[in-house]
Amino acid sequence: MSTPAPSPVPAPGLPARVRIHEVGPRDGLQNEAAVVPVAVKAEFIHRLAAAGLTTIEATSFVHPGRVPQLADADELYGMLGDLTGTGVRLPVLVPNERGLDRALARGVREIAVFASVTESFARANLGRGVEESLAMFAPVVARATGAGVPVRGYLSMCFGDPWEGDVRPAQVTAVARRLLDMGCAELSLGDTIGVATPGQVTALLAALDAAGVPADRLAVHFHDTYGQALANTLTALRHGVTTVDAAAGGLGGCPFAKSATGNLATEDLLWMLRGLGIETGVDLDRLAATSRWMAAHLGRPSPSRTVRALAPEES
Ligand code: MG
Repeated sequence: MSTPAPSPVPAPGLPARVRIHEVGPRDGLQNEAAVVPVAVKAEFIHRLAAAGLTTIEATSFVHPGRVPQLADADELYGMLGDLTGTGVRLPVLVPNERGLDRALARGVREIAVFASVTESFARANLGRGVEESLAMFAPVVARATGAGVPVRGYLSMCFGDPWEGDVRPAQVTAVARRLLDMGCAELSLGDTIGVATPGQVTALLAALDAAGVPADRLAVHFHDTYGQALANTLTALRHGVTTVDAAAGGLGGCPFAKSATGNLATEDLLWMLRGLGIETGVDLDRLAATSRWMAAHLGRPSPSRTVRALAPEES
């Protein structure tokens, strides 16, 4: 039997190429219960690069005491020096100016800040309200861009919030405008609890466009909690978005939903894109093998349908 693969049949109204922003090492491992040794993380990132991923969010320079899974950020980043000059981008998350100092000292060339659209999540996750957190990010973004380091702005809870319920597009456009005006090069729209459906995606992208935030400045970050991540992604592609966040093997639970599924699995995304004839430059089989290897380290099977479907038969 040959290795299964989708039959490529392009559909109208879609981009020829999509850039995958791989978030497995940071967003994925941050939200896994197990703490992975730094050498395994470094090998993971190297394997992701070898599979053809060109943007790999490596880690977060948060306070080491705050997220034990990411306490090795300095050490890990130091183990990735051989990827410099290979064309692989290794952005890191930076929570504040102290984190930025550490990142710049390490030679980081690209960073991200993590904002919330809703007041409740801002307070729960960042320990301060939306306004105060944006005020905290402003000098981070200014200093980074001044140093020639582009900044991605994450917007979490763009489609629903576990405490507040519905999130209005106007809440998202307000925070999006602030982050762009601050100097962020790209914004990633996060469905942090995975509740979005395609009509909502269309409505939000239309609202952002009307607010002067074009699709070419946007990425989408869907979670598969309710099985909607691919439908939402396809909707965003139809509206001109060409950057999609995903985590190899579907790494990362969702801390606010009692479900094993968190981030959209990169392999599930690849199966769809390959079927649509959309270029990504990523080798699906190689990536799935990497996710099976990581699943063995985490002691739980990958939640990705594609990773499981491609698994060699148990002997
Ligand atoms: Mg995520």
